[in-house]
Amino acid sequence: MSSQTRLTPGEAGGGVLRRYADVLPLTDATPAITLGEGDTPLVRSVRLEKDTGCGALYFKLESCNPSGSFKDRGMVVAVAKAMERGDKAVLCASTGNTSASAAAYAARCGLQAYVIVPHGRIAAGKLAQAVAHGACIVAIEGGFDDALRLAREVTDRHPIALVNSVNPHRIEGQKTASFEIVESLEDAPDVLCLPVGNAGNITAYWRGFVECYQRELATHKPVMWGFQAAGAAPIVGGAPVADPQTVATAIRIGNPASWTGATMARDESGGEVLAVTDEQILDAYRRLAQEEGIFCEPASAAGVAGLLQQANGGAELAGKTVVCVITGSGLKDPERAMEEFALELEPVAAELPAVEQEMGLA
Ligand SMILES: *Cc1c(COP(=O)(O)O)cnc(C)c1O
Repeated sequence: MSSQTRLTPGEAGGGVLRRYADVLPLTDATPAITLGEGDTPLVRSVRLEKDTGCGALYFKLESCNPSGSFKDRGMVVAVAKAMERGDKAVLCASTGNTSASAAAYAARCGLQAYVIVPHGRIAAGKLAQAVAHGACIVAIEGGFDDALRLAREVTDRHPIALVNSVNPHRIEGQKTASFEIVESLEDAPDVLCLPVGNAGNITAYWRGFVECYQRELATHKPVMWGFQAAGAAPIVGGAPVADPQTVATAIRIGNPASWTGATMARDESGGEVLAVTDEQILDAYRRLAQEEGIFCEPASAAGVAGLLQQANGGAELAGKTVVCVITGSGLKDPERAMEEFALELEPVAAELPAVEQEMGLA
């Protein structure tokens, strides 16, 4: 694809609003805020590509966004639109990353952030971010689905912008990742793999790929493969899950807000929404860290776990270009890593022989 057909790149670090102004719902009154979100790396696999039999396998490192997850792409648009309307505060329900992102952009823009989180189910790194950015945090005795219901009720009664992915501006911002993938590959991939929780992201990616195709930036649209955790797989099962369970806390959601968006993406693309077990998720989490050098949070590994499952199940991947979205950083959930990799440090003497012995070099 020639460079003329690409979107205006904008200056490096200029952010999603500037770079994708022509595909976002912006007006002259929308403030061009940014924390440098978007423009994330698309890196080729060095080991899993061969194991899965893909023609080419890439990872879209959304963990490289300013707050460490893809949520920043949508949040920057949602917060800018809230400011345009004159809102002074934003509110979200969150499994962690949405609150981290909302808190960061609110701090930057001088808004008050409120977050409602399920008590005891938020990874430490994510909670630390919301605290550090000065968000007002309400922990509830309930799950994410309760938190979202309450967030809707509060924003119905008070002049506070709801910045969950039920806010259409979130989806608009998140679709820009598809444009970046198409720009990098100079066409759409054949298959896109990603984790599915509240299902905003699969909805957004599909919209982005459809628009790329309509604008003739891509010659085709990818098949969408979404993966839910087996203990939190309402779309796979076709019914809400009352008490969702999984180590992948970012996708521990029993009644996704963008359910129809996900089934549309699945059906229109000829794709699938399937379940992977926690064991498969943690296996992919380990393999990404140790065989690819990519440290992601467990939810992010679900897309890769799903690809491995499909490859093992005999899916025809030869010659196919596949992209797995790495949705969030492993630094979000250090406790999981310490548990998974079972680190027990025994200090040795600060002397060369002791160090060599410990390294297995003696
Ligand atoms: C939010 C999130 C997801 C799930 O995305 P949805 O849009 O809710 O389906 C997956 N991984 C990470 C790291 C997330 O923060």
